[in-house]
Amino acid sequence: MRNQHSMLFSSVIAATVLASTQAYGESEHFGKTADGQDVEVYTLKNESGAIVKLITLGATLTEMHVPDKDGKSADVVLGFDDVAGYQSEDNQYFGVTAGRVANRIAKGKFSLNGKDYTLAVNNEPNHLHGGVKRSLDKVIWKAKEVKTKLGVGVRFSYTSPDGEEGYPGKLHVSVTYILSNKRNSVRINYTAKTDQPTPVNLTNHSYFNLAGAGSKTVLGHTLTIAADKYTPTDDTLIPTGKIESVEGTDLDFREPTRIGKRIKSLDDTAAIGYDHNYVLTRQDVKAGELAVAARLRDPKSGRILVVRTTEPGIQFYSGNFLKDQKGKGGKTYAHRSALCLETQHYPDSINHPNFPSVVLKPGETYKHVCVYSFTAK
Ligand code: BGC
Repeated sequence: MRNQHSMLFSSVIAATVLASTQAYGESEHFGKTADGQDVEVYTLKNESGAIVKLITLGATLTEMHVPDKDGKSADVVLGFDDVAGYQSEDNQYFGVTAGRVANRIAKGKFSLNGKDYTLAVNNEPNHLHGGVKRSLDKVIWKAKEVKTKLGVGVRFSYTSPDGEEGYPGKLHVSVTYILSNKRNSVRINYTAKTDQPTPVNLTNHSYFNLAGAGSKTVLGHTLTIAADKYTPTDDTLIPTGKIESVEGTDLDFREPTRIGKRIKSLDDTAAIGYDHNYVLTRQDVKAGELAVAARLRDPKSGRILVVRTTEPGIQFYSGNFLKDQKGKGGKTYAHRSALCLETQHYPDSINHPNFPSVVLKPGETYKHVCVYSFTAK
């Protein structure tokens, strides 16, 4: 059942866009949450055949269909077929907007302007991805279709009240996804404003398998990360505060490297594989401008994902905690069968004054752009 607003939007788009670019956006009812709230799904298509689906629960990217080197399309992100899946224990933040502070805050504690704050500990002994019940991945966002020169998209917005999940300040957040008309790329624009100083670190938590979601492993994918350095962590995955060179370590992805090549040596670490924040080099790129952060290629399908961002860091997580849960179309998501490339500020930055600050102040605007571009050859 489509809502009136989107029908109007669809017909306007149909008239103005279909004729010239064949791109359009439309929304449908996706389902209801356990407590009876409606969840809408938005579909974006472009003239090169890419299809993107997004839902209002968690401003989540649920599907991303892109062609392989022979033009055959596959959905390359993990997800579920229904709202119950997204609300289940099996959902390890698939495709969501994570926040208010993505990744970990040590012991769920921080101080700001002389005041101590305590957040939920939901990843013993730390706080992970913004909390438990009202983190940004678990709330229903307002959605509005947008049409830009680049392509059509959806703008999600949410106002998080002061104190929600223990964070100070009323925070207005918006996340806009735009599917490019011409290229198979999704641009994610984040903005946020607050009425009190507060930490903000948003990211998209898509899990990719370029051979298609549900394919056995990503260990055969080749990865390049544009980083000379990373932030080492303790055995609870909290940064020690040091920034160290990747040179001579199993974390060095400066040259294209098969993910499985050295992962065994990380089996017995706290991360059980790759789960590291890289300090992006951003050489000769000004603050606020996009720099290439990572490139991922699946040799079989030929699909290539290039990640560009304005952020200083990227978390490479090799799906170590995937546990054979059933996802879209009944497919099974095995250990290391997908990976995340999360553009962000460094984990636990609020407790590390030497890291780039995540504190947003009244009058300022948090801005973050992440672009996922797909090609094949
Ligand atoms: C973290 C992992 C965590 C995962 C949750 C990633 O961003 O780095 O440690 O297990 O999210 O699904």
